[in-house]
Amino acid sequence: MTVAALGRGTQAALEGGTKAERAGQGAGAALADQWGRRITYLRLSVTDRCDFRCQYCMPEKMRFLPKREIMSLEECLAVARVFSEMGVGKIRITGGEPLVRKNVVWLLAQIARLPGVCEVAVTSNGSQLPRLAGEMAAAGVNRVNISLDTLDAEKFARLTRTGSLAKVLAGIDAALAAGFPGGVKINTVMVRGINDGELSHLARFAFERGMDISFIEEMPMGEAGLDRGLTYYGADEALPELRDVFALRPSEYSSGGPARYWQAESGRKIGFITPHSHNFCESCNRVRVAVSGELYPCLGQNGKVDLLPALRESEDADSELRARILEAMRIKPKGHEFDLHGGGVQVVRFMSATGG
Ligand code: SAM
Ligand code: SF4
Repeated sequence: MTVAALGRGTQAALEGGTKAERAGQGAGAALADQWGRRITYLRLSVTDRCDFRCQYCMPEKMRFLPKREIMSLEECLAVARVFSEMGVGKIRITGGEPLVRKNVVWLLAQIARLPGVCEVAVTSNGSQLPRLAGEMAAAGVNRVNISLDTLDAEKFARLTRTGSLAKVLAGIDAALAAGFPGGVKINTVMVRGINDGELSHLARFAFERGMDISFIEEMPMGEAGLDRGLTYYGADEALPELRDVFALRPSEYSSGGPARYWQAESGRKIGFITPHSHNFCESCNRVRVAVSGELYPCLGQNGKVDLLPALRESEDADSELRARILEAMRIKPKGHEFDLHGGGVQVVRFMSATGG
């Protein structure tokens, strides 16, 4: 399919009706996997590149995909459009660092206008937000998650290898000033030796600025740099650390994702994403598309369906995309099998390749 044809198909879908009417049309279709789980959420990676080299995510000398092997922005939009027509209402743009992709704000604006899409979210390391937060809010982005693992500048530089804490803090300020309707949230990967003992400071930092925070257990994806068996710091240890400082009670709140929440006295929430200590696969509602066009039905398994041939070689790209998305529903496994100590299925790709 040519870029022009992709543009026309997408343009046609954008014509006519109010946002609510268009959302209604999109919601008519329902995508479900072989286990009966409704799939309503797409995480779309728009680049495998990044300005940081976080030790848990990628190696220092990371090899990135050549340009011909990654989807153009028009191809990313075609994938988002077909998913939205199949009942996927929430799309999160991720990476790599999504905001280093040239013209990414154009893509965000186009996706926000798609029929059936009621929420566009972005996950970012924050470094480009001083430059882009205002444009993103104007483009229709609803919410932004910003990754922040430590408030100690020296540890931050060590963990991210190339990142600057000051830049990320400026990015958080810019995101808060931009006024995303669904808010700004902090994501923290728990890493023993880096931020154990600092979690309550991070939570306080978030709360004081009106943000919630989620703590994520490290996942063994690719040989990135850390010895996962040593650096893993689970929710079972983190929760008592936080409870020393905050009066937390379990919350019924659900964002529709894997996080389980606790509420502080202030009303602010702490989420835990716990693939190891508490499996959450039963309620999985999502799939991921890497910028290579590979559709991964499960973050914690190696199974995939390739969408690039559908985009580039098919006479009828939309039908072929739909067929391949349905194939992914048939192979979506019941759950992940992460194992920090080398047994079981190990996921060979890096988190940055799939989009976290
Ligand atoms: N670059 C952006 C960022 O850092 O927010 C978006 C992509 S990043 C791959 C998405 C999320 O995955 C981040 O919150 C990051 O901390 C997390 N992440 C990366 N590698 C991980 C790993 N091995 N285990 C758990 N979380 C990981
Ligand atoms: Fe880049 Fe995000 Fe991976 Fe860190 S976690 S290296 S910021 S993609």
